[in-house]
Amino acid sequence: MLTPNMNYSHLKSSYLFYNIAQKTKRYLEEHPDAHLYRMGIGDVSLPLCDAVVKGLHIAADDQAKAETFNGYMPECGAPFLRSAVGEYYRRRSIDIADDEVFISSGASDELGDILDLFDRSNRSLIIEPAYPAYVDANVMGGREIVHLPSSRENGFLPLPDDNTDAELIYLCSPNNPTGAVFDRDQLKKWVDRANAHGSVILFDAAYEAFIEDPALPHSIFEIEGARTCAIEICSLSKTAGFTGTRLGYTVIPKELVRNGMNFNEMWIRNRTTKTNGVSYIIQRAACEVFTPEGQQQIHENIAVYKQNARTLMKALDKPGIWYTGGKNAPYIWMECPDGMGSWEFFDKLLNEAQIVGTPGEGFGKCGEGYFRFSTFGSVEDTQKAAEKLVELLG
Ligand code: PLP
Repeated sequence: MLTPNMNYSHLKSSYLFYNIAQKTKRYLEEHPDAHLYRMGIGDVSLPLCDAVVKGLHIAADDQAKAETFNGYMPECGAPFLRSAVGEYYRRRSIDIADDEVFISSGASDELGDILDLFDRSNRSLIIEPAYPAYVDANVMGGREIVHLPSSRENGFLPLPDDNTDAELIYLCSPNNPTGAVFDRDQLKKWVDRANAHGSVILFDAAYEAFIEDPALPHSIFEIEGARTCAIEICSLSKTAGFTGTRLGYTVIPKELVRNGMNFNEMWIRNRTTKTNGVSYIIQRAACEVFTPEGQQQIHENIAVYKQNARTLMKALDKPGIWYTGGKNAPYIWMECPDGMGSWEFFDKLLNEAQIVGTPGEGFGKCGEGYFRFSTFGSVEDTQKAAEKLVELLG
């Protein structure tokens, strides 16, 4: 008889977003005329920028003519896009070769698929609160998880210590959900630790484009020693509004070798077996993100979300609420007032201010007592939500 992957039975039900949806549905049934201020969403609200839309049209026309038509694309990515991404790194003086860049359909896909490269006996270190997919992908694969809780005391940026022994290390910076960003010295400690122990860092840089402090690193490869211990996973989802268009990229340096096995070569083998590449149309459009025009336009959109962040931060500063994030990330992670639990605060915000956020507890036990606001909503709703927050907490 067939045996299913029984690891799936160990998954915790993803009650966070289900619970939020249920509670808001009930509220709207009881208050059908209410307008909800949705500050919980992790999805963008602004459309694709003009340069990308132009790229989509050009690519659609290409596919209509025999001379410019593209069939299967190279599994690891179109050379023109691998080169555009490679250039994006090199412009920032980060030494990445085009064939170290792999084009993907998004970071979520890669975060799950990349685990193929590592034996099941490896333990995965996950800093919590964490993006829930890290935990679930490891549970599905039957891997042991080493949970590393973080706290207000370390600014939600814990450093390696003797209890943090694991072969795979997840780092997400800027972080979802806390918005906290590792500085160079902190990242160097993780890199040194990984090299000393032969571990591999999976560095999730999905929000790097939101960093505005010039001293903070956007990429793990800005840190000396990272080429022998890290894989970087990136996404255009939040950077360029590609949540529904889908495109990401992964960087695997050729020096990343363990036990005589080269991870760049292994990933080529994996991709050529398990994918037939990302759509030409999407890759052609994504290329526009890396042109000067595209960069200017995506940063105009990011500036709108940053304005939202400033609006919310000002509202929290008034009553003196402690928070991280906002400045270099599209998330604000606040301490719930008066020692409230995160679901208790969720109910209060929903019932008294019609604001929907995300309870911190949903990102791991140590998120209890904290709350996440996203800055991806509309400017009008964010402004109004901020006024309501001041009324409620001020
Ligand atoms: N990594 C982090 C930290 C995220 O927050 C998200 C999406 O919210 C992703 C990865 C997934 O990105 P993608 O849309 O490229 O799958």
